[in-house]
Amino acid sequence: MSQSAALMMSQKQIAARVLVQEHLAHEHLQAMSSGQDVGAQKQRIKCLLKQQDATLVAHYYTDALVQELAEETGGCVSDSLEMARFGNHSLSSTLIVAGVHFMGETAKILSPTKRVLVPTLEATCSLDIGCPAEEFTAFCDAHPDHTVVVYANTSAAVKARADWVVTSGIAVKLMEHLASEGKPIIWGPDQHLGRYIAKQTGTEMLLWQGSCIVHDEFKVIGVQQLKQVYPNAAVLVHPESSYAMVEIADFVGSTTQLIKAAQEMPNKEFIVATDRGIFYKMQQAAPDKMLMEAPTAGNSATCRSCAHCPWMAMNDLDKIEQVLLFGTNEIVIDAGLQERALKPLQRLMDFAATN
Ligand code: SF4
Repeated sequence: MSQSAALMMSQKQIAARVLVQEHLAHEHLQAMSSGQDVGAQKQRIKCLLKQQDATLVAHYYTDALVQELAEETGGCVSDSLEMARFGNHSLSSTLIVAGVHFMGETAKILSPTKRVLVPTLEATCSLDIGCPAEEFTAFCDAHPDHTVVVYANTSAAVKARADWVVTSGIAVKLMEHLASEGKPIIWGPDQHLGRYIAKQTGTEMLLWQGSCIVHDEFKVIGVQQLKQVYPNAAVLVHPESSYAMVEIADFVGSTTQLIKAAQEMPNKEFIVATDRGIFYKMQQAAPDKMLMEAPTAGNSATCRSCAHCPWMAMNDLDKIEQVLLFGTNEIVIDAGLQERALKPLQRLMDFAATN
């Protein structure tokens, strides 16, 4: 390459970096600007949490303000399994579960004597929606010799039909264990995660064809273009993304594992293919690293990255205050269903405790 071509390339690279930085600054400003009365509101919520003997548990994908409040009040910010486990061990009689509906259900299944409230009952998940209990049951009934393994992102009714519940953090280990038993396996509902695990473990599985609308959107071409601007950036990918994304990743893992990777990998820049809500905890864990959302859009799109779950975004301080004031949005699960859904979930907890 000639000297002038190399110079042009680096100027192009600088211009592209400016665009990326402007985008990141805009995202930051948006998060800051939503917090005008935040201090007073947080104080009110803190008092209500005490009055109601309640603990706030929040998912990594919720708004940074919600995560911050959970931390400040002795709650937890984590993935769905740890949220449920933390809630279960909490001494509070009420849990406020900021996430999506199945997370509230999981907390209730594990802690049936606690009151579980969610900021909104409308926050769902495309994996949960895409796996209706009746259809999934019929699918399982058609393959009675199969062990049924379902991802945590499912309704209580789907969990009740399963032999095992699994989370992305422990999926590979658990499937290796199940593969050693030699029985055929049904996996649902996330086809991408299922495919990733099947390839990792060499296990053949019957896959339910669900997917996450957020992780489905990450584009290999967008990541490759961003890599031209930041050639030393490591690509972190959640396995709910397409297998093409997994193939270009420097690291693949669950939310908790991705945070650890950003902290421990020597790279200074990261392209992150999961919901951007994770940046709050990831930046805490790796304060000297630069984090960029993996692109989700093609060249003609107006949005360069739409890496945020619309249902997770429904959780905000207003709704948390409302449920604490009025006791609304309680998760109620029929006792029989709770008992049936607990069995595969408890198996997961027991397996996780020893592996
Ligand atoms: S990010 Fe995807 S998997 Fe997570 S709750 Fe939203 S739709 Fe479901």
